[in-house]
Amino acid sequence: MDVRLLDATDDPEKLICQAARNDYASEFIADQSFEEVMSTIDGDSIEDRKETLLTHLLEHGHFGPFEHPHATFAIEGVSRSCMAQITRHRHVTFDIQSMRYVSFDDVDPEAVREGELVVYPPSATDPDWVGRNQDTGPVDEETVEKREEVFADTVASAVESYQKLLELGMPPEDARFVLPIGTKVNIVMTMNARMLMHIGDMRAAADAQWEIREMTEQILDLAEEWAPITFEYYNEHMKNRKNRLAP
Ligand SMILES: Cc1cc2nc3c(=O)[nH]c(=O)nc-3n(C[C@H](O)[C@H](O)[C@H](O)COP(=O)(O)OP(=O)(O)OC[C@H]3O[C@@H](n4cnc5c(N)ncnc54)[C@H](O)[C@@H]3O)c2cc1C
Repeated sequence: MDVRLLDATDDPEKLICQAARNDYASEFIADQSFEEVMSTIDGDSIEDRKETLLTHLLEHGHFGPFEHPHATFAIEGVSRSCMAQITRHRHVTFDIQSMRYVSFDDVDPEAVREGELVVYPPSATDPDWVGRNQDTGPVDEETVEKREEVFADTVASAVESYQKLLELGMPPEDARFVLPIGTKVNIVMTMNARMLMHIGDMRAAADAQWEIREMTEQILDLAEEWAPITFEYYNEHMKNRKNRLAP
């Protein structure tokens, strides 16, 4: 998968601070410089003051101001299964690559055996992989080779059938019914910083599936570059405490 920050609010942490300070300001916030807005907060520099205020908000569960800045992520090549999981989050805006308007008629079914178009789960190729909901432990090389063979045969054959149906004039929106749930999809999604922390709580957690966990970890890395004080604090003090942001 490839996860990138497509666009985001400029200076998100300044905006969070302005919104939070508005609650306690007698003057109109838009008429004041940021230095004035932050003048009563502890710290030697404006960066120190930002850190003081943001940390205070996060420590005290005052998450509302984190809803103002937004980030948009572009995600390439996750499974439709992962897509079904992430799209359950109702405060995120999604655009999903269409299988009605995009047809995969030029994909070589042999390339599908090498990982094109369909995501291969690690349990299909790694004998030492033990998934959370797996009854058995690690397996021997022979077993995993058989798994990979069955998996590759099935997905390649599904893509062949899909392309045959297209050749027989079936519309892509109907022919897609034979494609596997592991078929890759590209997603654009936008969320605010509070929601981003909630996604981290739910989807980077140990009980989430490996694929959505990997995607979420990449999103959190990008978020740390975007809003460093907030997401460094989140990663250090709040992550892995599921549902902390749920009211
Ligand atoms: C490990 C894991 C396994 C899962 N397994 C399943 C499964 O087997 N089957 C299944 O159906 N789902 C499953 N889910 C999805 C899960 O039940 C939630 O639907 C999904 O994670 C969305 O999260 P959320 O409920 O926090 O809501 P979000 O849409 O992310 O909303 C964020 C918060 O806003 C509030 N909120 C939003 N909408 C409402 C509302 N209408 N009323 C009241 N409060 C609201 C809630 O406090 C909520 O926590 C699973 C999720 C995880 C993380």
